[in-house]
Amino acid sequence: MTAFVSTAVATPPRRGLMFVLSSPSGAGKTTMSRRLLVDDEQIVMSVSVTTRPPRPGEIDGRDYHFVTEAEFDRMQAAGELLEWAKVFGYKYGTPSARVQDALHAGRDVLFDIDWQGTQQLQQTESGSDLVRVFILPPSMAELERRLRSRGTDSEPVIAHRMRRAATEISHWGEYDYILINDDPDVCLHEIRAILKAERLARRRQLGLAAFVRDMLG
Ligand code: 5GP
Repeated sequence: MTAFVSTAVATPPRRGLMFVLSSPSGAGKTTMSRRLLVDDEQIVMSVSVTTRPPRPGEIDGRDYHFVTEAEFDRMQAAGELLEWAKVFGYKYGTPSARVQDALHAGRDVLFDIDWQGTQQLQQTESGSDLVRVFILPPSMAELERRLRSRGTDSEPVIAHRMRRAATEISHWGEYDYILINDDPDVCLHEIRAILKAERLARRRQLGLAAFVRDMLG
């Protein structure tokens, strides 16, 4: 019988990527992000700052950094935000520091941001590190059903979110990958597959030339 000897190979260093998940609220993005983070140690979440008040169950520092309008404006003026946008009358933004630290350390960063923020990230110097994924609901009726079942929003808020969903969806053409969240398990599997393939992209594998040179002796 042949014995297979496993030789440990040092993985060449990799450039971190910025992985954006956008969707209208209710399409399942938050659940996907949480599940992805649980068992993938190479990716960290970008926790946004927002002037929106916390919803029941939301934790400061985990879901968002909840800040005052004045603090948000200060951060923006000081250039501490990588991107920002006004959504539903509140301001949302991505603090730069954590993102830059993670990317430099070769880790990936997950963003739950809207199309406006995604466009701005594309224009930053890290634009080539961006992988943009858009999650569509299976139908507008299903989206509305999911928004209602959350039980967190009033009727006028739901009506507003539905109107905004149409705008958000109209930007699907600005994304690299489009998923339809019919089944959350399938959708998560697809997200992991995209992440895996993008990590293997040649331009992200920084030490590859040296690795192959050494291998060939
Ligand atoms: P929610 O209030 O439901 O948590 O978020 C509302 C919308 O704001 C979602 O589409 C979410 O993706 C977006 N959002 C959250 N954080 C940010 C951010 O830092 N920047 C931008 N541009 N959008 C954000």
